[in-house]
Amino acid sequence: MATKQAIKTVSPKVVKGETFVSLQISKNLDPDSMEKKLKLLYELQKTDSRIDKIYMLRGELPLEVQDLEDEILGHKTKIASLAKEIKDIEAFIASKKQDIVGAKAAIKKYEQQRNNVKNNREFDSLSKEIEYQELDSQLSEKKIADNTKILVEKKEVYNAETAELKGRQEDLANKKKELDGIVKETEKEEKDLLKQSEEIQAQIDPRMLAAYEKVRSNARNRMAVVKVVRGACGGCFNKIPPQRQIDIEGSKRIIVCEYCGRILVSEKFDEDEEGEKKSAPKTEASDAKEVKKSTKTSAKEAETKPAAKKATKK
Ligand SMILES: [Zn+2]
Repeated sequence: MATKQAIKTVSPKVVKGETFVSLQISKNLDPDSMEKKLKLLYELQKTDSRIDKIYMLRGELPLEVQDLEDEILGHKTKIASLAKEIKDIEAFIASKKQDIVGAKAAIKKYEQQRNNVKNNREFDSLSKEIEYQELDSQLSEKKIADNTKILVEKKEVYNAETAELKGRQEDLANKKKELDGIVKETEKEEKDLLKQSEEIQAQIDPRMLAAYEKVRSNARNRMAVVKVVRGACGGCFNKIPPQRQIDIEGSKRIIVCEYCGRILVSEKFDEDEEGEKKSAPKTEASDAKEVKKSTKTSAKEAETKPAAKKATKK
């Protein structure tokens, strides 16, 4: 309960626009607890980087699934409109065939009438009628032929579209399966890492956390905390002067890379991690859990100074 009290009194301290540079020159940071803070920050970076990696792995897949779904919708729309066109053409051809049947019946009837005419005028009139029906019939034949050609073409496109649709649907099924597999495979790890990240964040000074988020969001590789690697910044690979390297090794204050703004931590941070894991962080983690349970406030609001001190005493 003491933890809760402590958090409530120090929480209104989230500083917007904080950077590591402003923290670097800040006077109110306790040098003795700095190493612990830096290690927490480094742990957070490692955890968040693992989460980033999971998202990167999924990265293209959700987009590819979306593209395929759009493509399939396009094919379906085209197929539906083609099907309607085909139906209309078929109906038109059928109606023209019906016209021919009608014309032929009329011709037959007129021919019979012509055989029994009484005068030339009647004969001529019936002959004209027959001629007209024959012309009409020919026109219908031509229309049927033209439309049959169009129908064949439309059906070809229809079949090609249908085959294409089937192919894309298979692709989609495969991509979805792949994505589901990856999500399933990494789901638990993602959840655990997110929880771990939250727990670490709960132990970090809000100002440091704000600076971390800011630098991270601006960095292409999303790295805000980097180790010194062979005398150079692990983020931008610029050389670090020897005196600064010694300061970084000491872990008594925040030291920022003057080229990229990333926070620099000792090369040795990973080395003694094994021992750390067994003792201190475990207590811190359970403390963080307690904090989360007792206050509904966000992890960011949980100022860590008292919590960290408490953890050290334990
Ligand atoms: Zn750098």
